[in-house]
Amino acid sequence: MKLKLVKKVQEARGTKSFFWEPEKPIEYLPGQFYYFTLPKLNYPDPRGSTRHFTISSSPTEKGLISCTVRIRQESGYKKTLDELKIGDKIEGEGPNGTLILDENEQNKTHIFLAGGIGITPFRSFIKYNIDKQLKIPMYLIYSNSDSDFVFKKELETWQKEYDYIKVEFFDTSKSGHLDSEKVLELIGNWKLEIGNSVFWTVGPPGFTNAMEEVLEKLKVKSDNIREEKFTGY
Ligand SMILES: Cc1cc2nc3c(=O)[nH]c(=O)nc-3n(C[C@H](O)[C@H](O)[C@H](O)COP(=O)(O)OP(=O)(O)OC[C@H]3O[C@@H](n4cnc5c(N)ncnc54)[C@H](O)[C@@H]3O)c2cc1C
Repeated sequence: MKLKLVKKVQEARGTKSFFWEPEKPIEYLPGQFYYFTLPKLNYPDPRGSTRHFTISSSPTEKGLISCTVRIRQESGYKKTLDELKIGDKIEGEGPNGTLILDENEQNKTHIFLAGGIGITPFRSFIKYNIDKQLKIPMYLIYSNSDSDFVFKKELETWQKEYDYIKVEFFDTSKSGHLDSEKVLELIGNWKLEIGNSVFWTVGPPGFTNAMEEVLEKLKVKSDNIREEKFTGY
């Protein structure tokens, strides 16, 4: 499926969203990812011209799909992606992935643990929840290595406007790493009970591995854990 680049948005230092117009409408669920293949690389890259990125838009945002990428100048792929011009076309394939919200879990409380760029599927879940008026309680703990959080304004607005959306920004350069005590404290502030909640953890492997230990310490049952590791970091 050809995807035409229609917009680029700087979301935070080193992170951009790319908005694509597909040649045909794409059906996907919040949390799924897509393969993005560049027609040619401007710089060598041992991992080639394809990467998979979560679709950061929500299916309710009709017409375009977006991906949000942590750009590193060391990556030939990402440098080339960043140099694409509006109107350029690439090849997309998908959707793929099983990080999706089960319909019969819509009555539960969902606690999202995002590590850095792992925020992308949660943006899609929250936007979908709001647009569809599902009113699913979604509590986001968003850990980042500095205060430049991706989607910060949007998340703050949603938290103000919808009482079923709560967001806690966690800057590890100031507060240290997210550990079980901090997670427990935040959950306690929100008056949530561990047993009634589904925990979602997404981010680079360093983050998801650490969160696995945190959730084990908190004795969260494995049935109530969903995880996606952003491999490649
Ligand atoms: C299901 C799934 C969903 C994903 N969704 C997203 C998403 O929404 N957004 C996203 O950005 N990624 C996402 N990823 C990760 C993505 O697919 C890439 O693997 C990842 O972004 C790494 O890209 P890259 O290979 O271009 O390398 P990069 O890590 O960007 O870097 C390229 C090169 O730089 C080198 N390098 C790395 N760090 C340093 C450093 N500190 N100093 C010097 N050199 C360094 C590395 O050796 C590497 O060769 C997802 C992965 C999975 C599995």
